[in-house]
Amino acid sequence: MNQYDIDFDLKHIWHPYSSMINPITCYPIISAKGIFLKLNNGKSLIDGMSSWWSVIHGYNNTRLNKALNKQISKMSHIMFGGLTHPAAITLCRKLIHITPEQLECIFLADSGSVSVEIAMKMSLQYWQSLGENRKVFLTIRNGYHGDTFFAMSVSDPQNSMHSLYKNLLPIHLFADAPKCTFESQWHQDDIYSFNKLIDQYEKKISAVILEPIVQGAGGMKFYHPEYLVQVRKACHDYKIPLIIDEIATGFGRTGKLFAYEHAGIIPDILCLGKSLTGGTMTLSATITTRKIANTISNGQSNCFMHGPTFMGNPLACAVASESINILQEHKWKKQVLGIQKILRYMLYPLKEHPHVFDVRVLGAIGVIECQYLININNIQRFFVENGIWIRPFNNLIYLMPAYIIDKKSLYRLIAVIKKSLDQKQCFIL
Ligand SMILES: *Cc1c(COP(=O)(O)O)cnc(C)c1O
Repeated sequence: MNQYDIDFDLKHIWHPYSSMINPITCYPIISAKGIFLKLNNGKSLIDGMSSWWSVIHGYNNTRLNKALNKQISKMSHIMFGGLTHPAAITLCRKLIHITPEQLECIFLADSGSVSVEIAMKMSLQYWQSLGENRKVFLTIRNGYHGDTFFAMSVSDPQNSMHSLYKNLLPIHLFADAPKCTFESQWHQDDIYSFNKLIDQYEKKISAVILEPIVQGAGGMKFYHPEYLVQVRKACHDYKIPLIIDEIATGFGRTGKLFAYEHAGIIPDILCLGKSLTGGTMTLSATITTRKIANTISNGQSNCFMHGPTFMGNPLACAVASESINILQEHKWKKQVLGIQKILRYMLYPLKEHPHVFDVRVLGAIGVIECQYLININNIQRFFVENGIWIRPFNNLIYLMPAYIIDKKSLYRLIAVIKKSLDQKQCFIL
């Protein structure tokens, strides 16, 4: 990659949430291995992001590569309509095995947002089959479920800029965001707003959808497991399906294989994505109960109306199976709890820093909520100059390294973050 390429990128290629007139700096990466990203000038960066939750076993993982190579020598893709293949069957067997018994019907798709669309369509078709007109979804504020239209409609109205799409987005119900944090004491008041809405709109609600325990892109907050326990109970009492979006939290990130395990609950529909393939391919899975699947199948269309071109892509399925194999060797838990211990020990003292509002740690996720908005371009330059890769947003600096990260590299990530807090240019003061 030379300057000519970088200028082309600036001029012609959109990056996430970016402007074509005033684009943010993008750093050219030519390869990646383990926890390192290699810049085109030969320098390496320690990666603290796992490329947005996904690369949990590290980059360029030998075992994942091998699984991909093995599959590519057989076939990269075949349509899933009217055809099936061993890679999909093996993966779905594993997914059913590692999730609760009640979840037994799987829909494979291309990405997290699409998985959310599918989960929402499942609940809509479920009620249609039962002859009820239920079109409203109940969720909580500060949520994030993706950038497609229906996923956006249940994401936080402010964070997801609902105002940009006024009259185009369906209007849903937003309960107050949980206030009791994961480690604090539970107060029954916290669930009041949710309970009130579910009771008031009982017969209109198609499903409840939320992220379990960790609210990710909506503010990196960790809420109390009792909230989820009571949501589950209310959904059960009112006979409303519960959609749990584990796209960010699934596969060990929070210290449990799935974050809903912190509350000991079982969803009716489960969305998986991001780290499903160890961050190598784009793939999602939406898993539901036999009851919901059969009700949909007995409905007026006799089928579930969705079928992406790349559904069940063999390469993605094969590498997802191998990623789960790695997790099933059970090293992840010790790794994640080890990261949690270091993050707590090293980050909690930063609460005293005058630029810091709050520090939170859960599993292999560390969050520093600053008092001020962050100057993203400047802080990123500072991080890159100091050999690390972290991408903050709003007033949040957060870490979610690959589970395989070594202690020294983790200390380095934390040391550079600490230094950045004293850099005036990194904040909008
Ligand atoms: C990232 C994310 C999504 C969207 O997934 P994409 O693959 O980006 O479409 C949905 N829900 C949650 C909780 C996420 O973190």
